[in-house]
Amino acid sequence: MAKSTKMTFCSFCGKSAAEVKKMIAGPAGVHICDSCVNVCKTIIDRELHGPQQDSSAPRFNLARPAEIKAMLDQHIIGQDHAKRVLAVAVYNPYKRLSALFGQNAQEIEDSELADVLIEKSNVLLVGPTGSGKTLLARTLAKMLEVPFAIADATTLTEAGYVGEDVENIVLRLVQAANYDLKKAECGIIYVDEIDKIGRKTENVSITRDVSGEGVQQALLKILEGTVCNVPPQGGRKHPNQEYLQVNTENILFICGGAFVGMDKIVRRRLGANTVGWDNSHGSAKEMNDSAVMREMAPEDLVKFGMIPEFIGRLPIVSVLDELTVADLEHILHGTRNAILKQFAKLLALEGVKLSFTADAARAVAEKALELKTGARALRAIVEKLMLDVMFDLPDAQDIDEVIISGDVVKGKAKPEIHRGETRVSKAQDDDSQSASQPGEPFEAA
Ligand code: ADP
Repeated sequence: MAKSTKMTFCSFCGKSAAEVKKMIAGPAGVHICDSCVNVCKTIIDRELHGPQQDSSAPRFNLARPAEIKAMLDQHIIGQDHAKRVLAVAVYNPYKRLSALFGQNAQEIEDSELADVLIEKSNVLLVGPTGSGKTLLARTLAKMLEVPFAIADATTLTEAGYVGEDVENIVLRLVQAANYDLKKAECGIIYVDEIDKIGRKTENVSITRDVSGEGVQQALLKILEGTVCNVPPQGGRKHPNQEYLQVNTENILFICGGAFVGMDKIVRRRLGANTVGWDNSHGSAKEMNDSAVMREMAPEDLVKFGMIPEFIGRLPIVSVLDELTVADLEHILHGTRNAILKQFAKLLALEGVKLSFTADAARAVAEKALELKTGARALRAIVEKLMLDVMFDLPDAQDIDEVIISGDVVKGKAKPEIHRGETRVSKAQDDDSQSASQPGEPFEAA
């Protein structure tokens, strides 16, 4: 008789064994998955020990603003103003947290400042796509060693409508903290595409705007700090569910958006004095789009469709510059994990040297600029360039150097291949550990 292959499902959340890491079987065909076990543990901890004692104070790496900026410089090119603003914005709330949780608590308690309440300030990053907004937020969280989650504002809708509830973005942070609520409550959430939830018109509409203003209203509460009920398994809330209670008071929200068309709104407000038709010098030329964007004020955000209360919850605004060809070139080879360094390391593992000439790097940067997706385009361009080389290399044992020139990038030539003695692939070599340093990835022509 054929053996029956019965699927097992978690009796709590209904997920199948294939969707979870571990399924534990109980008597009479009952099952529970690993994530439901975690949720149960959190609930039991909370109920038995109370919120004050359920775990030790959160730990994070508190660095001075200058140190934060120096660290950001290692990973992110340009955006100096945004880095300075962020370094201070991040330092202040975390300094406040460290005071709350005891590092300087006694001194503050004894001072006249004991009653002063420091509120956190969430941050709004305005900048074109691929300019480093997400990278800045992610790098900050990594440096502070706090949980980090990314949410997309466009997937959210006002409670009761089709789409995600705003509490789900807090759930993502709780999951990033491995269901340690204390840790999650000190985390960072990056809300992307915040400009896409702008009210469609400035006039008050009689029909409900569930994906625009409604979402801003729903986000308001969690941005300013509230205890929100998070459904542990995500999805829509329903009345008979057990919720995780998460306090968002200390969660730092960094919202980001491209705000396409904002420059026109700012220009209109600034009027013809600053931008317009100066015959001799042209004041319009003097103020390029980046300079205009830096003049952005809260009223421009209202014109764009953000509701004033929402803007009030994002008191720190930083405008990121559009990346120039020089910036893109620098990103290619200048950051810690720069793309060219990564490819150089990959080829070094095969025992091959990769050289990108200076005009090749420039040509890649120029091509990326044309695509208008900022630094996002760089990897795709380099991957495409390197495809044939990466495919052929493992089989061509005599190649010892590959040179990519500007003409290769422009499609006018093939990569220059230097052949020498049959090499030993470092990836296969036992001594590969010591040889894993990348070679010089960037060689001037
Ligand atoms: P966005 O501004 O759209 O959030 P991201 O931060 O997601 O852009 O950037 C996409 C990718 O482009 C990043 O992972 C990073 O590799 C690269 N990148 C973007 N901006 C920079 C920058 N200023 N410095 C270094 N790399 C960058």
